[in-house]
Amino acid sequence: MALPRHRFLVWLAVHARLLTQEMKMRLHIQDDENDCCLCDEQVETNSHLFEHCRWTKKLWLEIQKWTGVSVYAGGIQQVLKNIKKKHWRKFQKEVIAACYGAMLYHTWHARN
Ligand SMILES: [Zn+2]
Repeated sequence: MALPRHRFLVWLAVHARLLTQEMKMRLHIQDDENDCCLCDEQVETNSHLFEHCRWTKKLWLEIQKWTGVSVYAGGIQQVLKNIKKKHWRKFQKEVIAACYGAMLYHTWHARN
């Protein structure tokens, strides 16, 4: 149910293939700013951006309020496992997974 670009970004995020500041440092790409541009609190890593960032947590809380569903616990893979383990109809799982994928996509979009 998720848009292909959302699914692709989720795949990149799950496999830590996004060009975060941490990845740039590993690849020796010079950049003046290494902190997360969404919260300015920590070095921007894959896990920070999609798991620990204050901005992302706030966004996910709003999505939880809107959907009435709480599946956020840990990293991306854990959230996807939580959705899969729920005793919901397949349609509901797909909608919640699509919402989560859209959230990751728009978090990355806002970061850029
Ligand atoms: Zn942050």
